[in-house]
Amino acid sequence: MKTNDKRREKPGEKKPNPLGITVKKADDMPEWYGQVVTKAELADYAPVKGCMIIRPHGYALWQSIMDYFNRRLDEHHVKNAYFPLFIPESFFEKEAEHAKGFSPEVAWVQNKDEGSQERLAIRPTSETIMYDAYARWIRSWRDLPLRINQWCNIVRWEVSDVKLFLRSREFLWQEGHCVYETEEECDREVRIFLDEYTGLCEHLLALPVIAGRKTEKEKFAGAKYTTTIEAFMPDGKALQCGTSHNLGQGFAKTFGISYVGKDEKEHHPWQNSWGISTRLIGATILMHGDDKGMVMPPAVAHTQGVIVPIYRDKDKEEVLAQAKKLSASLKGFSIVLDDREGFSPGWKFNEWELKGIPVRIELGPRDIEKRSCVLVRRDTGEKKDVSWKTLNESFSTLLDAIQRSLFEKAKKHLEESIRKVTSYTQLKKAIGERRLVLAPFCGAISCEEKIKEDTGGATARCIPFDQPALGDHQCVACGKKAKHWAYFSKNY
Ligand SMILES: [Zn+2]
Repeated sequence: MKTNDKRREKPGEKKPNPLGITVKKADDMPEWYGQVVTKAELADYAPVKGCMIIRPHGYALWQSIMDYFNRRLDEHHVKNAYFPLFIPESFFEKEAEHAKGFSPEVAWVQNKDEGSQERLAIRPTSETIMYDAYARWIRSWRDLPLRINQWCNIVRWEVSDVKLFLRSREFLWQEGHCVYETEEECDREVRIFLDEYTGLCEHLLALPVIAGRKTEKEKFAGAKYTTTIEAFMPDGKALQCGTSHNLGQGFAKTFGISYVGKDEKEHHPWQNSWGISTRLIGATILMHGDDKGMVMPPAVAHTQGVIVPIYRDKDKEEVLAQAKKLSASLKGFSIVLDDREGFSPGWKFNEWELKGIPVRIELGPRDIEKRSCVLVRRDTGEKKDVSWKTLNESFSTLLDAIQRSLFEKAKKHLEESIRKVTSYTQLKKAIGERRLVLAPFCGAISCEEKIKEDTGGATARCIPFDQPALGDHQCVACGKKAKHWAYFSKNY
């Protein structure tokens, strides 16, 4: 361990961190979150209310998510494609449940083409526009399974109080839409893609999640059932991180998707759809960020390490030359050498901390004498002298350690947040304490509504796949025999 704090506070140096976070995460999380997102240059507010500008530092996280997930899609033989932003109103209305579920948040465009009076929906999701094409493309069992994904923007004109990445009228996502001959295949892959989302959250974003099925009230409009992964944020609210729906045969029937089976007869296929969005970036910020700003898990960070050379005029050339060598020697990692003029090392330290770069590498004349450098962890602030000879290995080990420890810390938070209750009084108390509450539940929509009303907004997050023994517990809300354990909490 080595203390370099004096490097940060040289006498006469310009006071660092003029744009730092001015509120503590634990004191005022919404204000803290807004400051981190804007000051770390992840995103900005747009001139159109409810929209967001994703800045390069934030977009790079989305690119990492896309890169990771595109590799996974390849493994599952899913192809990327692109469908139009505009959806004819008549398409939208075909599936009644779907139309009912989405209509309050659809933004409409009046089609000015001659001879057409039809309004166009700006896609709030793309089932209808895609399945119209699928009906033309699918003829025989040989065309199945059909697996298509698209990366695109989505508009849901519901909110006015924008929370960058977490809630906005326009956001980015991917939506996978697959078609199968049998229900079994469809079911199996609903779960495969949900498991892929779990893997993405846990391995890339260091976000532990709970996987389960949505209740009837919370399922996707038009789906047979919806599966979900839910993370639990430090302020005691759940955040839905990804969903995978079995759409049954409903859309196939309304859109006329059918195929001639091996039995020479006409059949409707089974369909699923699944998605994750730029909300995941919001979840990552909320979960890992601290009072100094963003903390990026190394696996998703576009820059894993930043080298900050520390020199006076007489050492400048030597230190910069050696810093370049170190940068080049860190092969296979994404490293930035911050050799900008006009910024003090202390200013640079603060800026990279605010932006959440996992490791800072400090190099000054004294380090050069020892043929070493100093590695500083963003998550814990821990410092370590590392010899140039073992730098590559030490850097790699450190990234792994940071990734693991972020995940473990988040996992501990999740586990400690769960309260298992068996009575309505306990449920209300635990919701009041901002816990993720596991309670016996009968499945009735009326019970969910009652819980929401009596707790000031708690909703059923999921019926976890991992079910404790139910015994003869009764539903906490109505006292009838419970069907399963379900999680309830406030949510983003
Ligand atoms: Zn009930």
